[in-house]
Amino acid sequence: MWKIAFKAGLVTIAVILVTQVVSFSIRHSAGQSFTAFVFAMNSILPLMTAFPAAFLIFWQNEKLSRALAELSEAHIQLKAKATHDQMTGLLNREAFFEKSKQARRKCDSGALLLIDADNFKSINDTFGHLVGDEALKLISNALRAAIREHDLVGRVGGEEFCVFLPTTSQDEAAAVAERIRVEVERLAFYPEERHRHRLTVSIGAIVSAGQPTSQLMRLADRCLYEAKEQGRNRVVFAAPVMPAD
Ligand code: GH3
Ligand code: MG
Ligand code: MG
Repeated sequence: MWKIAFKAGLVTIAVILVTQVVSFSIRHSAGQSFTAFVFAMNSILPLMTAFPAAFLIFWQNEKLSRALAELSEAHIQLKAKATHDQMTGLLNREAFFEKSKQARRKCDSGALLLIDADNFKSINDTFGHLVGDEALKLISNALRAAIREHDLVGRVGGEEFCVFLPTTSQDEAAAVAERIRVEVERLAFYPEERHRHRLTVSIGAIVSAGQPTSQLMRLADRCLYEAKEQGRNRVVFAAPVMPAD
């Protein structure tokens, strides 16, 4: 409020100065004297009009700026809600595939990892759904920690996650997938006091050879199924597709 009054005061002083100069010039050229009364009127009238008007304008401007800032903050939060999974904070399914599509438009090469929590139903059945939620949050944190800055990670199903690694070779992708597997395995998940339960994930992975994302997902899903069949807590890569000559 004091800042607004100060700014309005500055404007009022400027208006008074201009009024005095203009009034003095007119009176001088008309041969009239510039009396103390004229000086007082030239000061009081702008003070009574310019100050309230400037104060009102600055005040409204301040209110408008504040409303705009709140609106833009709400917009950011709404956008984050629309693109992120509320529980884990990861990208939601739609946003993940949209962002992967954008990344693939820039450069087609990359790897897709489909990650599924192992035996998750038994965690819910044994410890309850809320504890299961905590395990999903821990797994999400492990995924975030294992990927690189430009990689994408999303929750694409209940206990299923997807990672897209742009411009990544099979070796690099294998390293990231293994890092994810190990990070999850190391999680300190204590569903009950002094009772650590080991969390694990199985990962189906594929390096893109230019296939559409839907096909990559199908192939990664097949590898994930293979990983489950082989005993879980492992990474299975799709055989690299050789580009046709
Ligand atoms: P597998 O190793 O073969 O993947 O076994 P699984 O038990 O993980 O797989 P299944 O598909 O049988 O069960 C998935 C479970 O994940 C069942 C479902 O209740 C649970 N789940 C899915 N979404 C959530 C969630 O948001 N919170 C919790 N707590 N559980 C969830
Ligand atoms: Mg599943
Ligand atoms: Mg599962």
